[in-house]
Amino acid sequence: MGYKPTDYIWQDGALKPWAEAQVHVLAHGLHYGSGVFEGLRAYETAAGPVIFRNLDHAKRLHESARIYDMPVPYGPEAIARACREVVAANGLTSAYVRPIAYRNHGTFSLTPTNDAPMSVAIAAIEWGAYLGESAKRDGIDVCVSSWRRPSPDAFPIISKACGHYLNAQLIAEEAKRNGFHEGIALDHKGYLSEGSSENLFLVRRGVLYTTPLSASILDGITRDSVVKLAKKAGIEFREVAMPREALLTAEEIFLTGTAAEITPVRSVDRRRVGDGRPGPVTRAMQEAFFGLFDGSTPDEFGWLDPVTPATDEAEATTASA
Ligand code: PMP
Repeated sequence: MGYKPTDYIWQDGALKPWAEAQVHVLAHGLHYGSGVFEGLRAYETAAGPVIFRNLDHAKRLHESARIYDMPVPYGPEAIARACREVVAANGLTSAYVRPIAYRNHGTFSLTPTNDAPMSVAIAAIEWGAYLGESAKRDGIDVCVSSWRRPSPDAFPIISKACGHYLNAQLIAEEAKRNGFHEGIALDHKGYLSEGSSENLFLVRRGVLYTTPLSASILDGITRDSVVKLAKKAGIEFREVAMPREALLTAEEIFLTGTAAEITPVRSVDRRRVGDGRPGPVTRAMQEAFFGLFDGSTPDEFGWLDPVTPATDEAEATTASA
């Protein structure tokens, strides 16, 4: 699914026309995957567009970079502000926002320190449902991937680092090639991990389960939101290592992620989950989550970051430049 170019991309401190936001062919990040990134969503609300958990994403970007000892030249607040700015400048209401911090050109060394300084770019595009509207309503078909998530002593998967997404591509591509919407990977020990770019939840005997950080998963922000909303709704929740067969005994399964939001799973390896329709816990979680944007779920945690009109944000940039 391609995207439509927007007017501006924020790059290294300023908004640039889309076509001018370029990277040198010798960028370290291009050759070695040495970059970290985020994906955020802006939602349209009655009070104007909001970015969901903007600062939390900016903080995770910093954590991802810290793991790889990459100094990000803009603090979390500045990154969050730039995300608002790029959404506003492009006049977007519902959008996908993509910040990336990467090692730029200057050396081929694997230990670049100051020779390949860090750059930051933030793009925003108009975007609907990642797996399609029908996926959110009816559910998707998944397989268990033949590719595993890397073991924690091979890659620090808590870091949302560019290079890690080669593994994610293998998982997603294999699934698509074989006629599935998505693949669920196992971890290095053979326990359930996550999808190529979504966290995994399942329901058994009314209890909500998700896989732990030790199962080579990303510490998903949607995952955390679902856990908090489930606790508020009084749903019993456990974070435990689970064997593959937990997928076969689950009454409900769903995937979470900024792109996927909350997507029900209707079959695993062509075996139906429950009665093949999104179950009550999945629907309750979808209702609570999407309710944040139509006002039916109060924003108790302060997750909605309002995007102010373009003129105010432009002034903010000038003032901070
Ligand atoms: N796992 C992986 C590997 C991902 O790339 C993503 C998407 N960022 C997720 C899980 C979901 O995380 P989040 O809810 O923060 O988007």
